[in-house]
Amino acid sequence: MVLSGDAVRLSDAPLPPRVWMAGARVPAALLGQASVAAAVRCALLLDGGRIAAVEETVPPGDVPVVDLEGGTVFSAFVDPHTHLDKGDLLAAGLKPERNLFRAIDAVRDDYARWTADELRIRMGFALRTAQAHGTRALLGYFDWAATGPRGHPLALDTMLDLRDAWRGRVEIVPASLATIDVLADDAAAERLGRTMADARGVLGVFVYPSPHVAALIPRAFDLAARFDLPLDFHVDEHLAPPVANLPVVARLARERGWGARTVCGHACLLSAMDEAARDATLDEAAAAGLALVALPYTNLHLQDGTPEPPWATPRRRGLLPVHEAAARGIAVALGSDNHRDPFFPAGDLDPLQTLALAACAVQLDDPVERWAATITRTPAERLGLAWDGVLRPGAPADLVIHPGRRSAEVMARPTRGRVVLRVGQPLPPEAAEPPDFRELDALRR
Ligand SMILES: [Zn+2]
Repeated sequence: MVLSGDAVRLSDAPLPPRVWMAGARVPAALLGQASVAAAVRCALLLDGGRIAAVEETVPPGDVPVVDLEGGTVFSAFVDPHTHLDKGDLLAAGLKPERNLFRAIDAVRDDYARWTADELRIRMGFALRTAQAHGTRALLGYFDWAATGPRGHPLALDTMLDLRDAWRGRVEIVPASLATIDVLADDAAAERLGRTMADARGVLGVFVYPSPHVAALIPRAFDLAARFDLPLDFHVDEHLAPPVANLPVVARLARERGWGARTVCGHACLLSAMDEAARDATLDEAAAAGLALVALPYTNLHLQDGTPEPPWATPRRRGLLPVHEAAARGIAVALGSDNHRDPFFPAGDLDPLQTLALAACAVQLDDPVERWAATITRTPAERLGLAWDGVLRPGAPADLVIHPGRRSAEVMARPTRGRVVLRVGQPLPPEAAEPPDFRELDALRR
């Protein structure tokens, strides 16, 4: 390849303010080509921290050139489902569980020991980790019931402080995780709605599997409309039909015209329903226009788990039927969910590792070419971010560059060789590596 300008390398930081990224391989969806399941070989001109041009090849001129030699370029990642307030509770001494409700109880029992200092350490560690992996924005839940001395969720205050401190690095969208029972009490519901409106966040509700909670779901839509809030549901995170709440959420989202502002995570039950019920539910979700978020790490770990010895190997995997959803045009995103807490004893808030796991767990062909939007564009649109993640002139030069030249290479070594550019520059060395776990030793109680 004959290149026109001086050759520079990604490691030659700082990069020139005006530089071509030649030989880039970009998933077509990230160039704004919605229906093309392919990757496009192209050159990106970065100028002053923004994308100035996207061309097939580098035109003649004297602008310096980085030759990516077919490496893959993503727009910076967006993670639509993280639990920042619980992350690294294992470092504080809690134990992993093998059952969702055991994990919920373990964390509830721990609320009284949470302090602002500890939350700041655990959440800050999570944000530095996410940044190093190339995440530019995330939705962070906080448990609504974990109130601090002012009767206000302690983790929300910490999250709002961190949102200001991290602006321009990792954008935080706060979301409540309130059990739907809160909505049974008008005053409590009012307080939840007003708090989330004041926080400019998302009204997030945990819909646990019980037949009586369906009657409360309309109240979530009432509250969302009243305070003009996007809605997010943890819904049907179980494998025991017939109790199914996603059909109720989907019908209400359609009837209330709130589908574009409704996201549902988990929906593990869809994998355990008979096909007719599953298809009818997905048809309703498609008609509503809501988005579904698959959380493969935590769901593979917890669904069909055995709470007590003797341990048994899970047989039913509880994964969102990603293909059937996407085939109906439903927006599907992938999220990290829990990391290193009683819900999941690993996890590192890395969307590319999540995509690699999903590729195996739900059989994604060509995950980079066909599914890159699940960790970039789709969650960016659903979180209402200022930038939708499409690499077009004028967009921020916030990129994740991986040396892999095709899905097999990227998925085989998702964590190796990645370079994160923010505002057109590689992250500084202290931000480019995830923080050292030894820093968390101070959390041990
Ligand atoms: Zn979750």
